[in-house]
Amino acid sequence: MAAPGKLHGTVALVTGASSGIGEATARELATHGAAVALIARRGDRLTALEKEIRTSGGTALAIEADVTQRSQAEAGVQRTVNELGRLDVLVNNAGVMLLGPITDAPIEEWERMVQVNVLGLLYCAKAALPHLLDAAEREPRRTSDLVNVSSVAGRQVRLGSGVYNATKHAVGAFSESLRQEVTGRHLRVSLVEPGAVDTELAGHNRQEIRAGMAKRFADVERLESGDVADAIAYIVTRPRHVAVNEILVRPTEQQQ
Ligand code: NDP
Repeated sequence: MAAPGKLHGTVALVTGASSGIGEATARELATHGAAVALIARRGDRLTALEKEIRTSGGTALAIEADVTQRSQAEAGVQRTVNELGRLDVLVNNAGVMLLGPITDAPIEEWERMVQVNVLGLLYCAKAALPHLLDAAEREPRRTSDLVNVSSVAGRQVRLGSGVYNATKHAVGAFSESLRQEVTGRHLRVSLVEPGAVDTELAGHNRQEIRAGMAKRFADVERLESGDVADAIAYIVTRPRHVAVNEILVRPTEQQQ
């Protein structure tokens, strides 16, 4: 019989689990023994992943929810705790990236990014905090994790990604302030900043923007979602006294 995983007995909630980095992260945390709750809007994708994890002997719970709706974010966290018993890890990963010059941008694109990348992340964090603090205090692991997925764009500003940069800088600022606030209570707040990853993310952009992005990364072997999931799993499987505050992970060939 295989040894129990490092996350055996714990419960993790992953937002944006219907594709890309979130899907890979849910799968990875499940292989470490965590029961995983899966949040996104595409319920069919979540149900398929739930089934896959259960078939491999894990525990998963699909929760169809839009994180930009505060009541749905709160209900998603509450359902996780009600049905899986507690909350040890929140991976705040749901996000959108709509690029292009500021002067030409449809303002609806900015609203979507602020709603998902900032407000959705804040709603989930706020709803999860009491449960994460409770787990750090009472559960055998005596620590818990809130991992926020930012981006290289949260550290480095580029022409043509102003509002995406703004939302990811906001994620960084919030994470660092919260880290200082709760670290004494053994809730570890971490920031993950991927470079280019081969996911559906760029596909939501306008056609002319997509063409420019494809050109920028034409010669770069991009990261796979599993590479970022691996970084997240590393963070949440450290011993209680080790907090990995930040991981910046780029494809080797990506310069900026
Ligand atoms: P994907 O587009 O594959 O995944 C985005 C996820 O977010 C989907 O599961 C989507 O699910 C979910 N999502 C979007 N809007 C909402 C919403 N309103 N409510 C709930 N879930 C939502 O892209 P990635 O995996 O690449 O992106 C994941 C994170 O990684 C994002 O925060 C992104 O900014 C970040 N990132 C990605 C990089 C890349 O190159 N790919 C680089 C740096 C950072 P659904 O549509 O079903 O709701």
